[in-house]
Amino acid sequence: MIVTRFAPSPTGRLHIGHAASAIRAHDVAREAGGRFLLRIEDIDGTRSRAEFIAAIEADLRWLGLTWDGPVLRQSTRLDAYAQALDRLRGMGLLYPCFCTRAEIAASLSAPHGGPDGPVYPGTCRHLSAAEASARIAEPHCWRIDMAAAVARTGPLRWHDASAGDIPADPLAHGDVVLARKDAPASYHLAVTIDDAWQSVSDIVRGHDLFAATHVHRLLQALLGLPTPRYHHHPLLTDANGKRLAKRDGAPTLAALRDSGLDGAALAERLRTGRLPDGIATASA
Ligand code: GLU
Repeated sequence: MIVTRFAPSPTGRLHIGHAASAIRAHDVAREAGGRFLLRIEDIDGTRSRAEFIAAIEADLRWLGLTWDGPVLRQSTRLDAYAQALDRLRGMGLLYPCFCTRAEIAASLSAPHGGPDGPVYPGTCRHLSAAEASARIAEPHCWRIDMAAAVARTGPLRWHDASAGDIPADPLAHGDVVLARKDAPASYHLAVTIDDAWQSVSDIVRGHDLFAATHVHRLLQALLGLPTPRYHHHPLLTDANGKRLAKRDGAPTLAALRDSGLDGAALAERLRTGRLPDGIATASA
């Protein structure tokens, strides 16, 4: 059974890039007689807003998309994330990190860039157990000791429909955060657990999340979860080749709807690559 999902974070209104991604995920499932799921990634309590959740559903319906079963909200799944964190902690792979953003920035004399920005220099990995437990009442996140995790899993691979067979390279990300100071799980942990829990067979999402898949593949191996097939698609850009982003004023689906545009017609254009004026497909 082919199962796909669209998994937006309700931190703003959807734009045309989200629409293109949701349509692809929807169509991959529908063409195979499979299931298409909607999951709301709302673990970031400081940025997620209920009004955006309602808007996401309205926008998808306007495009003519339907989803199967109830909408899953990640905020209802905190016990599952806590259990996974306990398992990883039990394997000796997690450590508490007390560093502030400013401290991390200051300690990176020559910032070592990873696929998703600067790589954490590992400061708190070197704390003794006694030092860490003496500070545990201070605000902290939990990081994975990536070198230890990779030593445990050995080499891993994953498959992308366009890029082919990929050797996983989670080490390039360094000791990523799995539980945040302000949220009980990070994106990496929650997405990996929920894709497995919902039996998602094919992950259709933008190329901006290609590199994150290395981390997800590692977590699957550590937690004994299956590895889905991946379909990372090119992002949509503006006329200058800049990725569409709400903060840069990309037109929201709500604005397009209010301007009288027909949602089903827009979806058809996106399917056939007839992009609206001023919108292009990124080359990578
Ligand atoms: N929630 C993520 C986002 O809105 C996407 C998750 C995913 O497709 O893996 O960027």
